[in-house]
Amino acid sequence: MQGKLLINGEMVEGEGEALAILNPATGEKIGQVAEASSDQVEAAVRSSEEAFETFRHVPPAERAALLMQIADIIEANQDELAELESLDVGKPWPSARDDEFPLTIDTFRFFAGAARTMTGSAAGEYVAGHTSMIRRDPVGPVAAIAPWNYPLMMAAWKLAAPLAAGCTVVLKPSEITPLSTLRLAELLQDVLPKGVLNVIHGRGPTIGDQLINSPQMEAITVTGSPATGMAAMRAASEQIRHVHLELGGKAPVIVFDDADLDAVAETIRYGSFFNAGQDCAQPCRILVQDSVYEKFAAMVEAQVKEIKVGAPKAEGTEMGPMVSAAQRDRVSAFVDRARLGCEIVTGGASGDGNGFFYQPTVLANVDNSAEIATDEVFGPVVTLSRFSDTDHAIKVANAGRYGLASSVWTTDVGRAMSITSRLRYGFTWVNTHGVGTPEMPWAAMKGSGTGCDMSVYALDAYTSIRHVMVAH
Ligand code: NAD
Repeated sequence: MQGKLLINGEMVEGEGEALAILNPATGEKIGQVAEASSDQVEAAVRSSEEAFETFRHVPPAERAALLMQIADIIEANQDELAELESLDVGKPWPSARDDEFPLTIDTFRFFAGAARTMTGSAAGEYVAGHTSMIRRDPVGPVAAIAPWNYPLMMAAWKLAAPLAAGCTVVLKPSEITPLSTLRLAELLQDVLPKGVLNVIHGRGPTIGDQLINSPQMEAITVTGSPATGMAAMRAASEQIRHVHLELGGKAPVIVFDDADLDAVAETIRYGSFFNAGQDCAQPCRILVQDSVYEKFAAMVEAQVKEIKVGAPKAEGTEMGPMVSAAQRDRVSAFVDRARLGCEIVTGGASGDGNGFFYQPTVLANVDNSAEIATDEVFGPVVTLSRFSDTDHAIKVANAGRYGLASSVWTTDVGRAMSITSRLRYGFTWVNTHGVGTPEMPWAAMKGSGTGCDMSVYALDAYTSIRHVMVAH
């Protein structure tokens, strides 16, 4: 399996080093894709800059039509794209297609509509004899960096909003899972005007670094780790450019004694493990009220022990491998460091065979300040800890640097509303966890990032507000 890059409207071989692509379920090499050379990154950046001069004047209705076309193309090719995703990331089939593609496709359809909402506020005469108006203009070419956990969906989030805003994009998917994004680039080659989208391939510290440090790119958007977010902020600070960051998470799940415990345990079974836990919103830090702790811990244990782990295409597989040996080993090291301070209820070891499997793992009686309870593990591991009352739950939940996803489980609406107002998270679910829709922001606070993906608010990162004043 090979892949080409999209540079200035042409699908071309990378001129850099060939990187192996592995099947995480078997550890076998399934192909290779050559990285872009430094010259090719430069060419992609130049192409994006040139195309911007035309694309920024394309009327919203035409941009909307392009976005609708992209959605239709993904929909028509979703079986093939989802197959690539399943093979490259190890996602169980058919959920790789059925759980992710509807949202991926709908993201483009939503932003087709959003492209037509980019109006400034009404004009007015604030200084006598002068009429003011607000313009909302595309910021410029965008450097977009995507991660490996949902390669195509993250590419959709990185592409749809800037294209809706009238920006051009140079997109770099993760070097370990580029296949679906490169195939999408091929499918869009003749749809988007030359240079509106460039897709390059390569490692972060070299190719990614060159892209985000290219001064022609007026905005940088990253979904990735905090370290990459910091690199983007440093790069942007050199020339003062827009930055949008969606980084890590450590989602607390606050379970009160009046919650529907069956519903929470079922949500954990699916939500914490379905992508082998490699999810920035993964419900992973389960905080349980003292009075129901023992009962609920037993329920979680029963659910997690039933999870069927296996090859992505095997009948009934609920959880596949982790994406790479490095990620599996990272998770394994986290659990090993935590062993002495808690109880391993289930799991706690790598799987057999050559694939990058790690067992679904539940750690109980975890100290809320332990590393495993505060740092992002990004794997099939959840921790169970106790809290006494609302104040205690809020204190524990708000501790730490992350501020992405959170959920509260209670049948007391007043309590849910009051807790929601005190949590410092970009999004909070009440009596559910993990449900997303393009109309609503995937928003970050604190160390989890700045701004948001999805919703009309995502356009803010890709637009500049301008004031035009006309004397009369
Ligand atoms: P990563 O930061 O290692 O890699 C993400 C991307 O950044 C890759 O394309 C990589 O090549 C690139 N990159 C790495 N170093 C770079 C540099 N110096 N300059 C430019 N680009 C660079 O992250 P990952 O391991 O691919 O993804 C996992 C992380 O992403 C987790 O922390 C997870 O929480 C986060 N994530 C967040 C969200 C969200 O919406 N907040 C969604 C998915 C994943």
